[in-house]
Amino acid sequence: MDWVSRLKQILGEDRVRDDEAHRMQYAHDESRLDQPYPPDVVVHPTGLEDVIQVMTFAEKEKIPVVPRGGGTSVTGGSLAVHGGIMLVFDQMTEIKEISPGDLMAVVQPGIVTGVFHQAVEALGLFYPPDPASLDSCSLGGNVAENAGGPRALKYGVTKHYILELEVVLPGGTVYRVGRPTKKWVAGYDLVSLLVGSEGTLGVITEITLRLLPRPPHLETLLVSFPSVQAASQAVTDIFLAGILPRTLELMDRKAIDVVREKTPPNLPPETDAILIFEVDGQEHEVSVDLERSAEIFFKHGALEILMAQNEGERARLWEARRSVLPSLEAQYPKVRSEDLVFPRTLIPQAIEMAYEVEQQTGVPLCTFGHIGDGNLHVNLLFEDEEDPKVEKALRMLYERTVTMGGTISGEHGIGFLKKKYLAIEQPPGLIQLQKAIKRVWDPGGILNPGKLFPENMGRL
Ligand SMILES: Cc1cc2nc3c(=O)[nH]c(=O)nc-3n(C[C@H](O)[C@H](O)[C@H](O)COP(=O)(O)OP(=O)(O)OC[C@H]3O[C@@H](n4cnc5c(N)ncnc54)[C@H](O)[C@@H]3O)c2cc1C
Repeated sequence: MDWVSRLKQILGEDRVRDDEAHRMQYAHDESRLDQPYPPDVVVHPTGLEDVIQVMTFAEKEKIPVVPRGGGTSVTGGSLAVHGGIMLVFDQMTEIKEISPGDLMAVVQPGIVTGVFHQAVEALGLFYPPDPASLDSCSLGGNVAENAGGPRALKYGVTKHYILELEVVLPGGTVYRVGRPTKKWVAGYDLVSLLVGSEGTLGVITEITLRLLPRPPHLETLLVSFPSVQAASQAVTDIFLAGILPRTLELMDRKAIDVVREKTPPNLPPETDAILIFEVDGQEHEVSVDLERSAEIFFKHGALEILMAQNEGERARLWEARRSVLPSLEAQYPKVRSEDLVFPRTLIPQAIEMAYEVEQQTGVPLCTFGHIGDGNLHVNLLFEDEEDPKVEKALRMLYERTVTMGGTISGEHGIGFLKKKYLAIEQPPGLIQLQKAIKRVWDPGGILNPGKLFPENMGRL
């Protein structure tokens, strides 16, 4: 009997889907590669027991296992590049507990991030990590990628909100890692190791999250500037004035042009950069911060400041920023959205550097991003993913980013697409050290193989 039939015997015929149509549904993710990577079978676990059975079977038979949440990875992280079993968590979406008193929640990994936001906000609570994909990504995927988002400037990223994880290792062993308490230092911090491990160390089956009280007041501004430099200098002065906004998003001239019909009407024609600025907290603190910030923006040559008067206006001010990537994808055959991070004050130089790469390689690009934490999305626009110019542009971008003291990934992870570039940022010894850690957790190399580590350093 072949392994698929044996797995069906263990889990039941209806739980193991190997029909072509179903496998092809999971052959792509948001990296939008031309080549499909269908898994051999798709399993939709309904609880811990199913995952244990899959992981026991897969370890024994040496079959790859790829965990998958919403499939919104932009680095090919959720592709079954070596086939095998895809574990899709769309049946494990329960919120098991929300405890307002302990500021804590327990969830299954498949819950959609935006759905969880609504559930906690209805109780006056707040879960800050807000990847732009929050309507379709899952909390399990956010943990595996250590997802960030616009609010990371003030509130940090996913890793700052994970208290405890239930994780299943190859072979079916289950551990609870961390504690459901706000503090603990008992032993190594394996929660931090698992967060951002891109499904290569263990399968996450339950997440205990830290929550915050929901900030009672929020204000949103859209500020037009004559240059990226002016916007960046204003941001420095905002910090020096003791203000920590919840969000500081930047769009450059080209990004503005891409979504021109979504920007507020009559933007000043000299606008070369837009900042979206949000402050939250108690109402009186927010109004003091707003007043001071407006002075700083005008001091740095702001052309216009628009302030949202209600939720509808807030959504409209955000529309342009949220539309950049979808609009690029509608206008260009291929878009590669890079998530480079720089020391924040180098953002103007980083944008200049990116446009130099455009000039030198002929690959058009545009930039936008989370200027407050130095995270710049450089979007390469091209027709053919095999075009050597694209590879050249990527390599130049990564090398220059690292030389400037930055990193090649601030939120999307390394996955499948970036693995050959990891060595630009990390020396071979450090990569080997991480591979040794991987071997301890996954000696047979069955978990999400073909990801994270450069090919020429051996398969794992
Ligand atoms: C339009 C768009 C906007 C985006 N904006 C942001 C953004 O603002 N910030 C940001 O950080 N990212 C962003 N992303 C990237 C992506 O949404 C995130 O990486 C997200 O965390 C992936 O979640 P997912 O549920 O879709 O995971 P998937 O794509 O399904 O999987 C991602 C990785 O997680 C692993 N994984 C999934 N579930 C589990 C599990 N239960 N156990 C172990 N491993 C698991 C997978 O194996 C894979 O390696 C964006 C993507 C798109 C398409």
